[in-house]
Amino acid sequence: MELGEDNNDEHAQMSIEPIHLQWMGEAMVMAEEALAYSEVPVGCVFVRKHSIIARARNRTNELRNASRHAELEAIDLILADKELTPKSTRYPLEDTVLYVTVEPCIMCASALRQLGIKEVFYGCENDKFGGCGSVLGVNASVKHPVHPSYQATGGYLREEAIMILRRFYVTENTNGMSPPIPKQKSSRVLRTEIPPKSQT
Ligand SMILES: [Zn+2]
Repeated sequence: MELGEDNNDEHAQMSIEPIHLQWMGEAMVMAEEALAYSEVPVGCVFVRKHSIIARARNRTNELRNASRHAELEAIDLILADKELTPKSTRYPLEDTVLYVTVEPCIMCASALRQLGIKEVFYGCENDKFGGCGSVLGVNASVKHPVHPSYQATGGYLREEAIMILRRFYVTENTNGMSPPIPKQKSSRVLRTEIPPKSQT
């Protein structure tokens, strides 16, 4: 209880176009689905010409395949669909925008660049694996002799993206390989404070 703390911090939020939040909300629906299936809750949608052409979520546990991230799941759907991808071209995603709840990892960021993604919007940073600046700037700062760079911008529904990951990991602690000894309550508490975005 911090009396006098009710001044509105929302003003500090960057002004974000509502359409981006709408698409990110759709990505968050997929993250919720991942959570419901006990997957690390990351979801995404790909948008082309103002409509969603693919939506997907992480399926790494289900398929026992660490490459089955939401982005690659959706890309598989897009490329295999003859209406969405009528012919094989070098950059099949050049008119397509990605909304994903967590910064793409290095693997996905690289795949997106190779396929010519137009632009990426993400929710929270991926401190351990992020390929759009947090660990490595695969999207732009890493020079590539052929593939064009793309812009990746975070902060869209960032708090929701962080909180759903925490909800997953809080639950995870109670399953897993640990012995059936009740954990101290403190380790199970769902933290709700959101750290400020670290700028690099
Ligand atoms: Zn990934």
